[in-house]
Amino acid sequence: MPWRNTSNPYQIWLSEVILQQTRIETGVAYLERFLARFPLLSDLASAPQDEVLKYWEGLGYYSRARNLHAAAIQLVEDFGGEFPESHLELLTLKGVGPYTARAIASFAFGEQVAVLDGNVMRVVSRLLGDPAPIDQQKTRKEFQQQLDFWVKDSDSRKFNHGMMDIGSVICTPTNPGCMICPLESQCVARKEGLTAVLPQKGKKLVRKTRYFRFYLLRKERELLIRQRPQAGLWGGLWEIPNDETTAEEWEAKKGVGETVWLGSGKHIFTHFDMHYHVFSMELKAENYPIEGQFEKYEKIHTFAFPRAVLNMFDQHLPGLTKPTDK
Ligand code: SF4
Repeated sequence: MPWRNTSNPYQIWLSEVILQQTRIETGVAYLERFLARFPLLSDLASAPQDEVLKYWEGLGYYSRARNLHAAAIQLVEDFGGEFPESHLELLTLKGVGPYTARAIASFAFGEQVAVLDGNVMRVVSRLLGDPAPIDQQKTRKEFQQQLDFWVKDSDSRKFNHGMMDIGSVICTPTNPGCMICPLESQCVARKEGLTAVLPQKGKKLVRKTRYFRFYLLRKERELLIRQRPQAGLWGGLWEIPNDETTAEEWEAKKGVGETVWLGSGKHIFTHFDMHYHVFSMELKAENYPIEGQFEKYEKIHTFAFPRAVLNMFDQHLPGLTKPTDK
């Protein structure tokens, strides 16, 4: 893993934030593109937010990209372009939470703090034989205290890399490799035959289903697009006009006015499933009472869109999203 060999806090920060988003192979490709365009903290801080979002396009959780950009500016303006070395100071940066602050402090500066991700939660739960639900804040706090006690007076880089590796490669959710685990002799779950029932989880998240209609409104070879507000879902990204509808209306596949139904799809968010229809219409009149701006097909790929909208383009207007740098 390329970021393992560096103690550069900027690269560690980027890799931690990007790799929280996606599988390692995909994340490494994004990281390389990001570092090629923004090799230094100052490059990221001085870039327009739109461009940062464009390089993040497809990763989801766009607030993280906006926070990354805001924190880069904060580091240049308030910290003289240098990263603070303690996790407590790192926590004051926009969007930097306990996991990322601890990862930077440990991997870049050797601070003796433990890094607790989902995989490490599983290892600790089994190691202690602790049935406390790992999706609760109280458990996270207790496990964090335990790990911080263990990491004291040790090489925190090695400790954290070791725990994260055991969690991702050996102590897997099903069929953990206890036979080759360096923690086997101390592991309560292994001794008491609890590996299949630990860790425990609390209440299941109730997923909602929401229904949307998206509109490809065209004028010759131009498409109507608009930018979303900075706050909220897809904040700061571009989209095509759309509205939310009820399950009954959605079933009827009926769009607004003369629009023609093209197809349907589904996009999965953390808290809800979005079912959508895509409608299309060639606009004839000169004035349209619709918020947005017309952009030529050839320019569409220069704007940052969420993955769901990119999928709609790929399906119904192929060739539109072909960026030159991917
Ligand atoms: S012995 Fe088995 S259950 Fe215990 S930490 Fe190692 S892999 Fe996980």
